[in-house]
Amino acid sequence: MSMTMKTPSKVVVCPNCSTKNRVPPAAGGAPRCGNCQNLLPWVVDTSDADFTSVADDSTIPVLVDVWAPWCGPCRTVSPALEQLATELAGKLKLVKVNADEAPEVSRRFEVQAIPTLVLMHLGQVVDKQIGAAPVPALRSWLTEHLPKEEAEPARENDSSTEDDRQ
Ligand SMILES: [Zn+2]
Repeated sequence: MSMTMKTPSKVVVCPNCSTKNRVPPAAGGAPRCGNCQNLLPWVVDTSDADFTSVADDSTIPVLVDVWAPWCGPCRTVSPALEQLATELAGKLKLVKVNADEAPEVSRRFEVQAIPTLVLMHLGQVVDKQIGAAPVPALRSWLTEHLPKEEAEPARENDSSTEDDRQ
């Protein structure tokens, strides 16, 4: 599938160890640093052609940022979204779509104004927000709607079960 992708891989500098990693636009799970295994922020610029592979097929939640180069508020919200993608590395993939180059995506999400932010999980729209907002507002919006952290399966009790309680 990725053979036909137009969306290029991106070089991402690991926030933990500064190693440069080549991160593909689509993959199962979330990208990790090849050196230290730290989760990497995942920001992909894509368009109509690859949207299904990049966004719908993602196994982690996706925040779609529908923007345009001529849109002032989009330029404000863009760094905020990138900051959040870094904070939420491994839990959120940021997918940026230029509305002018992606009529299908714009139609699908009934984009009337930009920026339009669409939170998706497993191909379904979870929530949608129109207009720019500051980082704290976006962070609480995302936190509210992202799937709740599944309680880490408690390591099968390290096999210290029955025997310990006499
Ligand atoms: Zn690293």
